[in-house]
Amino acid sequence: MSDFYDLIIRNGIVVLPWGEERVDIGVNLGRVARIGVTSAAEAGEVIDATGLHVLPGLIDAHTHLRDPQQADVESIPSGTRGAVLGGLCAVFDMPNGNPSITTPERLQTKKDFAATRSWCDLGLYVGAARPTIDGLAELELSDGVCAVKVFAGSSTGDLLIEDDETLERVMRTGRRRIAYHSEDEYRLRDRKHLFHEGMPYASHAEWRDVEAAFLGTRRLMALARRTGRPAHILHVSTAEELDYLHDYRDIATVEVLLNHLTQWAPDAYDRLGPYAVMNPPIRDRRHVDAAWAAVRDGLVDVVGSDHAPHSRAAKERPWPLCAAGLTGVQTIVPMMLDHVSAGRLSLSRLADLMCAGPARVYGVVGKGRIARGYDADFTLVDMKRRRRIEDSWIVSPCGWTPFAGTEVTGWPIATVIRGQMVMRDDEVLGEPAGRLTKFMG
Ligand SMILES: [Zn+2]
Repeated sequence: MSDFYDLIIRNGIVVLPWGEERVDIGVNLGRVARIGVTSAAEAGEVIDATGLHVLPGLIDAHTHLRDPQQADVESIPSGTRGAVLGGLCAVFDMPNGNPSITTPERLQTKKDFAATRSWCDLGLYVGAARPTIDGLAELELSDGVCAVKVFAGSSTGDLLIEDDETLERVMRTGRRRIAYHSEDEYRLRDRKHLFHEGMPYASHAEWRDVEAAFLGTRRLMALARRTGRPAHILHVSTAEELDYLHDYRDIATVEVLLNHLTQWAPDAYDRLGPYAVMNPPIRDRRHVDAAWAAVRDGLVDVVGSDHAPHSRAAKERPWPLCAAGLTGVQTIVPMMLDHVSAGRLSLSRLADLMCAGPARVYGVVGKGRIARGYDADFTLVDMKRRRRIEDSWIVSPCGWTPFAGTEVTGWPIATVIRGQMVMRDDEVLGEPAGRLTKFMG
């Protein structure tokens, strides 16, 4: 057995799938080679993790990096730079750019662009669009594709698929788990006349009410059961859906957003105005409490950010003209660590929600846990570090975070991807070397 490694991480408390252990990890050729390296072993590089926890490389499975054509707001280079600064080893990017990623040609163009520009590993969603439904079965099997994304509500142009007949057609193509934006588009349209321009930003949660989300999810679950097609319900935002979904675990997995665990109405709208407007909306405390209960009882598989940057000009318009969507890729790990510090979940559960969970839901190959043979992806965190999140720290060109001014306890100190340290102490290192994440076909 080799006693020489490319990299050894020494003296950290390692969050293994079976619990926390104070153990040293040896890495060769970008993979975990040994857990429990002896003190005599040598390495090309040693990371001293004294005082730090070593988490499996965290993944944000829900981001909108906006490439191409919105580089003034966000791009793959800037968004993945924010990701590694925030302690993430991989992000999955949504397909609703301009153009939307709905064909093999567009997907290839995006892969070619990202090949030399991403700081972390990438998974790519492909979008379900009416004209290209017949191509989805093949498209979802392309390298680097994490899932088909269906906007059953809340989208524009070719990506909106709101009717049961077409949703069922989509479900009957292919076989991998489909990720859904679940709000009932018809109810959103029907209720829009009840509101008018210039009403308070909190109106967002009244227009896009509990029933809009719950009805959307009930419809999707009926179709998923009928077709047998596995579903992943993104950003579940209501107590009603969470209570309902525990009866659908044979067919459904569940994502909850950091924002829906952290912010509530009316407080968020009072403090942040348009910077609290997102879809599905931030709701009252009852739903926040239900989301935490669902984290604790195991219903929630994944926590994501739904990083969706917009310019300040686009945000600072009267409701409902203000753009919906908040930044989050750089702040999700510090904010979740603060929740750990407050005793709301354990580091093990965080690793489950942001590494093992995404790996299980999307079928990631070679990531999801610290174990021999897996990618040597690590998020090193200091659970004692106190720090204030500031707009000036955010590298997204839009330049703002809804968490500005929040003081957190717990901070990502280093990001290691496939054995390479890409971030240490707020500094991004080397060149963009992110690769496409591998998925089971
Ligand atoms: Zn989203």
